[in-house]
Amino acid sequence: MPDFVGAIDQGTTSTRFMIFDHDGAEVAKFQLEHQQILPRAGWVEHNPIEIWTRTAAVIQTTLQRSGLHDSDLAALGVTNQRETTVVWNPRTGRPYSNAIVWQDTRTDRIAAALDQDGRGQIIRDRTGLRPEAYFSGGKIQWILENVDGVRAAAERGEAIFGNTDTWTLWNLTGGVNGGVHVTDVTNAGRTMLMDLDTLDWDDELLSFFGIPRRMLPQIRPSAEPGAYGVTLRHGPLGGEVPITAILGDQQAATVGQVCFSPGEAKNTYGTGNFLLLNTGTDRVRSDSGLLTTVAYKFGDQPAVFALEGSIAVTGSAVQWLRDQLHIITSAAQSETLARQVPDNGGMYFVPAFSGLFAPYWRADARGAIVGLSRCNTDAHLARATLEAICYQSRDVVEAMQRDSGVILDVLKVDGGVTANNLCMQLQSDILGVPVSRPVVAETTALGAAYAAGLAVGFWRDVEELRTHWAEDRRWEPGWSGERREKGYAAWRKAVTKAFDWAEP
Ligand code: ADP
Repeated sequence: MPDFVGAIDQGTTSTRFMIFDHDGAEVAKFQLEHQQILPRAGWVEHNPIEIWTRTAAVIQTTLQRSGLHDSDLAALGVTNQRETTVVWNPRTGRPYSNAIVWQDTRTDRIAAALDQDGRGQIIRDRTGLRPEAYFSGGKIQWILENVDGVRAAAERGEAIFGNTDTWTLWNLTGGVNGGVHVTDVTNAGRTMLMDLDTLDWDDELLSFFGIPRRMLPQIRPSAEPGAYGVTLRHGPLGGEVPITAILGDQQAATVGQVCFSPGEAKNTYGTGNFLLLNTGTDRVRSDSGLLTTVAYKFGDQPAVFALEGSIAVTGSAVQWLRDQLHIITSAAQSETLARQVPDNGGMYFVPAFSGLFAPYWRADARGAIVGLSRCNTDAHLARATLEAICYQSRDVVEAMQRDSGVILDVLKVDGGVTANNLCMQLQSDILGVPVSRPVVAETTALGAAYAAGLAVGFWRDVEELRTHWAEDRRWEPGWSGERREKGYAAWRKAVTKAFDWAEP
């Protein structure tokens, strides 16, 4: 058996390819950002061709730089930004439009209409989700209704849908020459079209959005030998490597953080934040604004579920400081700038650029900066941005504790923002709980590699994976209880200022 496993992580900000060894240690990595296309307020798009070109490029560069070859890889896993929607022509390989990204709010009205006639409740009961613009169903409907010729093409089998896992897989396995049109349960479960009981597409749900079934990929487990085909010999890997796992990025991070037992949780800080709590084979319903979602399904073992708190804007608020306000030139500078002041100077920033997700689910919210006085500077804004990441996480942790009764004794974290040590200290201060970052911070790619490796026997079982997890750094709460609760009360007040702001 070859010595390594590869993982493609097609994320919201960038695409990376990583290679891991038998100990779960990173051996090689390369990544490239892609363009965030913002045609108008609330719209966020990616160019699928750019995504595929960059995916191919990061694979080739990683292999070249490491001196490794396709034959060194026992298996390949794919993980991806979830919900982002691509519709393309399988005969030409051309997308019909840009991908509609998960943060895009153009389908608010489609989502709101679902709650006016009882369809919303059916979606809640059957999918564990809520009728929201966030999920893929409304995005597919939008493309069918607004892009010329797509509906007729879909009826003829000439327009197929995929999230970026499926788009990547289809291109990797042959594209117009027989690309595999398949997804996994964790991605399919984010469309509002999959029944959590059957783990298959549901005709009634499809009818809510007017989506022809033949557009949709086949749903497979998250890890299974033979489920997803092999890479094309003439593709970017330069040979045939079995693709044996697909997992949505948050589910992959849950696997990468080895949260395999009920009660184990992780919080990933990327473009947005996503806290997932493993609930085992039980589907826990939320009364507090969380989602019920499939965590993973390995082969023919039963599916494992999670409660999820999704936050739309965390790391992307830091990007906003960099790209729109130009008060920093790199994301890492947010830490240096925020360290210039000892506190937020009374400033609270609610980055509701795409409305607010969990636990509020207010599509009508818009960003708010409150508590300003004349002494405030860009350093306070940087600090308020980092605090906003942490306060939003506290909102979700509180909801999680209410729904599950599980009280976290430590928060396992990962993702791009966790490189920010000040932000992690603030997280511990604001939660009053220690925060722990693992040595391998790229848990998303690691989780996809773990799932792919398990499927081919590269790793024996999840217990073996547990032995790889090691802590890199831990932060302990420093704030007094009084400071913590005062700060949180001010945050909750700031959030109410962001409600009801969307223009009619
Ligand atoms: P994704 O998987 O969603 O593409 P990543 O895990 O790659 O996200 O993280 C990228 C995000 O992390 C970006 O939004 C960026 O602004 C943020 N980020 C990266 N480094 C830092 C840092 N040192 N401090 C704060 N934010 C950071």
